[in-house]
Amino acid sequence: MNHQGRRIVALFRPYRGRVVGIALLVVAGSVLGVVNPLLTKQVFDHALFATGGPDLHKLYLYVALMVAVAIVGGVASLAQTWLANVLGQQVMRDLRSRLFGHLQQMSMRFFTATRTGEIQSRLTNDVAGVQSVVTSTATSILGNVVSFASALVAMLVLSWQLTIVALIMVPVFFWLTRLVGERRRKVTAATQRTVADLTALTEESLSVSGVLLAKVFHRQDADHTSFDADNARLAKLQVRQQMIGQSFFTVIQTFLSITPAFVYLVAGWQLGKASGITAGTVVAFTTLQTRMYFPIGQLLQTIVELRSSVAYFERIFEYLDLRPDIVEDPDPVRLDPATTRGLVRYRDVRFRYDDDPASGAPWTLDGIDLEIRPGQLAALVGPSGAGKTTLGYLLPRLYDTGEGAVEIDDVDVRRLSFESVAATVGFVTQESYLFHSTIRENLRYGRPDATDAEVEAAARAAAIHDRIMSFPDGYDTTVGERGYRLSGGEKQRVAIARVLLHDPKVLLLDEATSALDTTSERLIQSALAVAMAGRTTLAIAHRLSTIVSADVIYVVDAGKIVERGTHAELLRLDGLYASLYHEQFGSGRIEARCSDGVLMADGTVVADDQPDSLHPSVPA
Ligand code: ATP
Repeated sequence: MNHQGRRIVALFRPYRGRVVGIALLVVAGSVLGVVNPLLTKQVFDHALFATGGPDLHKLYLYVALMVAVAIVGGVASLAQTWLANVLGQQVMRDLRSRLFGHLQQMSMRFFTATRTGEIQSRLTNDVAGVQSVVTSTATSILGNVVSFASALVAMLVLSWQLTIVALIMVPVFFWLTRLVGERRRKVTAATQRTVADLTALTEESLSVSGVLLAKVFHRQDADHTSFDADNARLAKLQVRQQMIGQSFFTVIQTFLSITPAFVYLVAGWQLGKASGITAGTVVAFTTLQTRMYFPIGQLLQTIVELRSSVAYFERIFEYLDLRPDIVEDPDPVRLDPATTRGLVRYRDVRFRYDDDPASGAPWTLDGIDLEIRPGQLAALVGPSGAGKTTLGYLLPRLYDTGEGAVEIDDVDVRRLSFESVAATVGFVTQESYLFHSTIRENLRYGRPDATDAEVEAAARAAAIHDRIMSFPDGYDTTVGERGYRLSGGEKQRVAIARVLLHDPKVLLLDEATSALDTTSERLIQSALAVAMAGRTTLAIAHRLSTIVSADVIYVVDAGKIVERGTHAELLRLDGLYASLYHEQFGSGRIEARCSDGVLMADGTVVADDQPDSLHPSVPA
């Protein structure tokens, strides 16, 4: 057995008992299957047409036996089907669970490079595709081998001459199988790829963001066209898949109908030649013949199916074989939350998204050195694409450094347990992601054991409590997928409250650049001020209040820290920071740009159409 085969067999190992039970039932059922044809011969030769007239006494006995055999066979077959289905579902459940667990371990690198729909398709469609192998194929192989063998023995007992006639056609079958099997496997693989494409496309274009994008760009027709292309391909492939399977079955059916005719022919030549062939023999033989051809047909069909299901397994194993590139240290350091100080240090960090050293891709981060002492606020500023977000990602180990080290309390984050990293570093992302669940559940995500009072306290601190209470269901209000029923600013405050509950020593904050209205902006600022208090904060800053209050500002440009210091020091330096400050923050007069105007540092709001007042560096 090849490697793939061994892996498939290994899936059944935990259920050995069930497998043996099924095997016994299959054998019993198949052997019982030849009993009735053999009884038929007895009925014909010794009961119905016995020398000296019908023997009713024997007939009663045989009929009773035949009924009993049929009933026992039926029960065995039912029991076998039930067991096989239970087993199949268990194996599938295991596979799905393993796949899910495995994918959870994969790093951001994997998810940014893979379509969500593709992942979903493997988890559902491919695992479902495996079902037929698991529930029916294995039992079908065994059952058919036993049926074939028992029928063959019974036929030989009846007449070796007729058996030869019946066997002559078998090699033709085998030749056909190989032919069809290979084609079917290819078609199945192509089908599964198309199903995955279709799922991915559906998930992308019919998701909230996808629909939004399609509507505003009026791209529905284009999306529909590319959907239809895949859709048509799928339809074609499925017809081919069905036809390949069916043409095969038709061949078998034809053989099944033809060969009895030949048997009668040969029987006619042999009758009366002391060959021992009687009318009962011929009837029993033709019945048995069906019992022999059918299993062969089924076996061949099964082999065809097996080959195609290997395609499903390959797709599943391909994912299971992916090695997560961010793994926990086998002997990790655990930080005691009570004594964690929250000292953050980057030592000569180099990083690139393309982690293949041979690629020679330029470093996205190139020699980052920084230190944030416990309780300090460090602000990262710099032009778009400079690498600020990437720098932040290295702290909670969303990516690992290529060279150098990121440390918390003098321990390399790669040495820390996953639990310690998660407990120590909180992350408020630009996009606030909320699950389709109640606000309370969303808040508790970071600390499932938080009491209602704690949840409420966090929400108050994040300036979202009053808003939540204004919903009819309060904290039990369900927020739609990605929290679409909350405004952007509300979502951000819920996300901040969630981090407050989680209560990490180190806060990573990627300030949203999306323009909120000025009221939201103020509320967020007050929420952030609470969130930063008493924590070491690394903020990718887009707000004046954040950079001005920062203990240290790091100016990032093209993956390097080009300036560092306090706001006052950097202004005196009159370099990149100073020009960004003048440009983005109107030399300190603009707090943030909002959808309804510009929030000035003094708290007033002005319209965003007064360039002179906002950009004093531009001559009026
Ligand atoms: P902004 O302020 O616009 O968010 P940033 O300073 O946070 O910018 P990063 O998001 O860190 O910049 O990106 C730094 C560089 O890395 C950019 O050139 C970006 O295109 C690239 N980059 C970001 N994410 C990936 C990724 N998953 N794969 C490959 N390259 C990436």
